[in-house]
Amino acid sequence: MKRVNKILSGALAGAVLLSLTACGGSASSGTAASSSEAASSEAASSEAVSSEAAAGVGADTQAIIDRGVLRVGVKNAVLGFGYQDPVTGEYSGMEISLAEKLAEQLGVDVEFTTVTAATRTELLDSGDIDCVLATFTITDERKKSWDFTTPYYTDYVTVLVEDSSGITTLADLKDKKVGVSSGSTSARALTEAMIEDGVLSGDGFDKETFDPSLWTDGVSFQQYDDYPSISTALSAGQIDAFCVDKSILAVYKTEGRSYIDAQFAPQEYGIATKKDSDFSTYCNDFIEACLADGTIEGLIAENNLG
Ligand code: GLU
Repeated sequence: MKRVNKILSGALAGAVLLSLTACGGSASSGTAASSSEAASSEAASSEAVSSEAAAGVGADTQAIIDRGVLRVGVKNAVLGFGYQDPVTGEYSGMEISLAEKLAEQLGVDVEFTTVTAATRTELLDSGDIDCVLATFTITDERKKSWDFTTPYYTDYVTVLVEDSSGITTLADLKDKKVGVSSGSTSARALTEAMIEDGVLSGDGFDKETFDPSLWTDGVSFQQYDDYPSISTALSAGQIDAFCVDKSILAVYKTEGRSYIDAQFAPQEYGIATKKDSDFSTYCNDFIEACLADGTIEGLIAENNLG
C-alpha cells in the first residue's frame, strides 16, 4: 500500500514552493536538482521554512510537510485513474500521478490507501488520510461537508448490463433492480435521467433528500460496499444492471456485457480535503497550475482517457 517517493526534506520544500509557478513537472526537476546541495545545509533549510511561512503556507499544510508523508486515498480498480497491480502492488493512473506530483511539490513521500465510495469520507474525517483523489464527484451537497478543488476530469454515468438481458435503453430499465455503490451519486443520477427521459413520472423525487434504499417507483436499487460485489451480483442475476461512472465500469465490461445506449449526469472529479483546511487552498492552487500548464491534459492523454 505504501509507496515511497522521497524527493527532498520537508524543510527544503519551502524554498521550492516560493519559486513555484507551475504544477509538479517543472518544480520537481528543480527540487531534485537542488536537493543534495541544500540537504547538507541546516541553515538553508531553516531559512526556507521561515520563508515558506511568510509565503502563506498554513498550519495544516505545514503539518504534512513536517510529517514528511502525504497520505492519499485512491481507488485500486479504476483503470487510468487509480489502479493497483495485483502482482506488484504498484498503483498507477492519472489520480496516482497527480498525488505523486502533489507530494513532490510539498517535498514529502506519498502513501496510498485504497478507498471506496463508502470509506473515503470516513477516512478523511478521521484524519487517516489528508486528501482523496478517487473519482470523487463534486456536488453541492458534499461541498457542505468537505472542500473540493477545481475539477480535473469530467466523466459521465452509464449502465452496464448482460447482453442476454435485452436491456439497451433507459426505458428498458423500468421496474428493474439496479446495483449501485453505497455513498455514490449513481442511483440519484439514474433516477433523474429516467425522469428526464419520461420513463418515470418523477412524483415524489427530491434531489436533496433522495435515498436509494427507499426509492421503488419504477426502478429500485441494491447498494453494495464495493464494485466487484456488484459485478458478481450482475452475473448471478441478483440485479438487472450495474450503474456508476463509465470510468469505473470499464474494468467490468467483459465479454457478453454492454453499456446501455445512454450516458448522463456529468461527474466532475476534484481533490477532496477537510472542510476549511488551508490544505484545501494548497490543493486547489496545485490543480489550477496543473490545468494551466498542460499537466492534466498530458495525464489524460497518457492514460488514454481522452
Ligand atoms: N464518482 C461517483 C461518486 O463520487 C461514483 C462513486 C465512486 O466514485 O466510486 O459518487
